[in-house]
Amino acid sequence: MHFQSAPETEAFRAGVREHLAEVMTPEFEERIYRSGVSHDDDFAKGLVDHGYFAPSWPAEFGGQDRNAWEDQALKEELMRTDAPVYLSETTRMVASIIRQVGTQTLRERILPGALAGDITVALGFTEPECGSDVAAAATRAVRQGDDWIINGSKMFTTNGHIADYVFLLARTSPDKPKHKGLTMFLVPTDTDGFEAQAVWTLSGERTNITFYSDVRVADEWRIGDVDAGWQVLGLSLQDEHASGWGPHIARLLHHAEAWATDTAATDGSPPITKTDVRRRITRVAMELEVSMLLQRRCVWMAENGLAPVAEGPMSKVFSTEALVRASQDMVELVGPDAMRSHYEPTAPERGRFEHLLRFSLGTTIYAGTSEVQRTIIAQRGLGLPR
Ligand SMILES: Cc1cc2nc3c(=O)[nH]c(=O)nc-3n(C[C@H](O)[C@H](O)[C@H](O)COP(=O)(O)OP(=O)(O)OC[C@H]3O[C@@H](n4cnc5c(N)ncnc54)[C@H](O)[C@@H]3O)c2cc1C
Repeated sequence: MHFQSAPETEAFRAGVREHLAEVMTPEFEERIYRSGVSHDDDFAKGLVDHGYFAPSWPAEFGGQDRNAWEDQALKEELMRTDAPVYLSETTRMVASIIRQVGTQTLRERILPGALAGDITVALGFTEPECGSDVAAAATRAVRQGDDWIINGSKMFTTNGHIADYVFLLARTSPDKPKHKGLTMFLVPTDTDGFEAQAVWTLSGERTNITFYSDVRVADEWRIGDVDAGWQVLGLSLQDEHASGWGPHIARLLHHAEAWATDTAATDGSPPITKTDVRRRITRVAMELEVSMLLQRRCVWMAENGLAPVAEGPMSKVFSTEALVRASQDMVELVGPDAMRSHYEPTAPERGRFEHLLRFSLGTTIYAGTSEVQRTIIAQRGLGLPR
């Protein structure tokens, strides 16, 4: 294992940075911030046009055959700039599952559109009564001839109000053990009986509660075998659990450094001249470094045919909790002014400190809470009993 990025990876990263510098204008950022929606059609199309949508996919499926390090460099840059890519990411994740276990019909219907930025897919796993224990899903799909009739509701279907499809987890055999009676479907959101209602989170992000009232979908929209939904879902959860959130710490560090050098303290000197300021900023830099290394270790493992079963959750827990710690520390450092929001002209760093504080809390919840990740590390990584 080495820690040096190859020149080709850095060249690829430089191209991504150049593209993002061009399109992530202050006006665009403002629009995304106000909307609370992490998606923009033109931005997504721009990624496609530049080969930044699914670079590590095989060329025959619309990718560029790039390696996992280039893919990682892209993810880091998108996250560091807070680019609106959540819907693109969920779409790519589901497309990848369809590529692996979807029927030929489904592949032909979805993959070209998804890779062209014309088709989008949201995730419908969590329900009002179950999130961590996702296998307890109660939303029902009942077979009726060649169709399925779906009834139930899903919580936190982020982007469900704009996506073309929801990748839905539904219970097909209530009499079987809970993990063995689930099936995955791709539900077109323009089907009668589907409804999305807004839910606003602490960070200002819009997500949705979605309702399914006698939603009829043909069997051809099923992904994987009937009652094999848990295995299909596993393909996406492993991806989610291996996520790293270090680049958000990089963004915070950037704002902290800018504040510490560009503002004047009460004695007229910039805050960076104070020992306490330097100590706190250095601590954030160290946590950033560890977060990035943990994430890159997962990439290295995957490249070497090893599954980051415990290392993925370690990366997720450490980087998200470090982000919370760092955000709180920076708000304390900057003082009451840090609580000024983006909407106040006098807010330091255009309100990024208080926004990152609110934003950081959610990162320890979605894609598996810290408690759930720790359980995976304990049981699967350390082999401890349940
Ligand atoms: C902003 C946001 C966006 C989201 N987007 C999506 C999306 O697009 N699609 C989707 O399907 N879901 C989405 N989610 C849902 C997310 O995955 C769930 O919130 C998460 O899995 C936790 O589930 P829950 O909210 O039901 O909490 P619960 O599972 O009810 O957990 C409540 C608390 O109990 C703890 N807990 C639960 N079980 C255990 C256990 N066995 N041991 C120890 N502690 C436990 C949890 O860690 C947590 O602290 C999103 C959530 C948020 C906040």
